[in-house]
Amino acid sequence: MPGVERYSRQLLFRPLGPEGQKRLAAGGALIVGCGALGSHVADLLARSGVGELRLVDRDFVEESNLHRQSLFRESDAARGLPKAIAAADHLREVNSEIGIEGLVEQVDADNIERLAQGMTVIVDGTDNFDTRFLINDLALRNGLPWIYGACVGAYGLSATIVPGRSPCLRCLLDSHSAAAGADTCDTAGVIPPVPALIASIQATEAIKILSGSIEAVSGDLLAVDLWDNSIQRFALDRDSLAPNCPACRGGVYDYLEGEKGTRSIVLCGRNAVQIQAKRADRIDLQTLATRLEAHGDVVRNNFLLRVSFEGITLAVFNDGRAIISGTSDAVRARTIYDRYVGS
Ligand SMILES: [Zn+2]
Repeated sequence: MPGVERYSRQLLFRPLGPEGQKRLAAGGALIVGCGALGSHVADLLARSGVGELRLVDRDFVEESNLHRQSLFRESDAARGLPKAIAAADHLREVNSEIGIEGLVEQVDADNIERLAQGMTVIVDGTDNFDTRFLINDLALRNGLPWIYGACVGAYGLSATIVPGRSPCLRCLLDSHSAAAGADTCDTAGVIPPVPALIASIQATEAIKILSGSIEAVSGDLLAVDLWDNSIQRFALDRDSLAPNCPACRGGVYDYLEGEKGTRSIVLCGRNAVQIQAKRADRIDLQTLATRLEAHGDVVRNNFLLRVSFEGITLAVFNDGRAIISGTSDAVRARTIYDRYVGS
């Protein structure tokens, strides 16, 4: 068996053993997002010997990523390398015996099916709920387990969603509006140990699934606050949570069918991109303005707020629509929207 030496300490771990290791080598993980969570997860799964890793990310490495996104180096930021490419390159030096793909794409309803092709599990390394609900829809439809993760400040969350056994993300959050206006790492900050911890939990859950120990997977939503020293578990009982969930009970996959979620349109001749967000509620511009004040002078009236930073001007309307001027790059504009407005 190849890799006996490399995986010797893992082979000694009884719940895995040689049989579990073989299954890991035969399995594949799609990691959506290569930020703090995704890069830690990718590193752990590459070292563990997962046979195929597919890393997808739309963003490039910046200096402000380096304090928590463990796979990246100053030289990646200086070169402005796409995260998926830099991550895949570094991981090939960590483990040349596995398949590693780095794809620079915005995950959406049109490509997620292809991206998940042949994969055994999906790990959430995203920073926005549109993409998470899309993953949720695809996972339910294709019967694929997926592992939700999120961090902000000193606080982190994780839950493993096994279709047919667990409640789904829409059961947990009920509707898109529950997530709207939530703080993100780009508005409220994050300390590096939090994503390292949450990613470790996600990677362990993935290893359980990939090695054939799905019965060992957590049935709880885990919430950890490392600053307040609190760890909470909420039992995820499928029958008591959202018995009328449209996705996991009704088989209606709004995000996969492209009926919900955020769309971006490049505004011709204006060096600007419009982001059209379909959201259930109005944005609280006052709250958003307070969060954005750290990045630039915010001008606000009853209809919109405007702020300039990083060479762009972001204008957000109270129905969630935004115009980002100073770029005609739809992917960059969408990234800025998710970071600073949230979805
Ligand atoms: Zn559900």
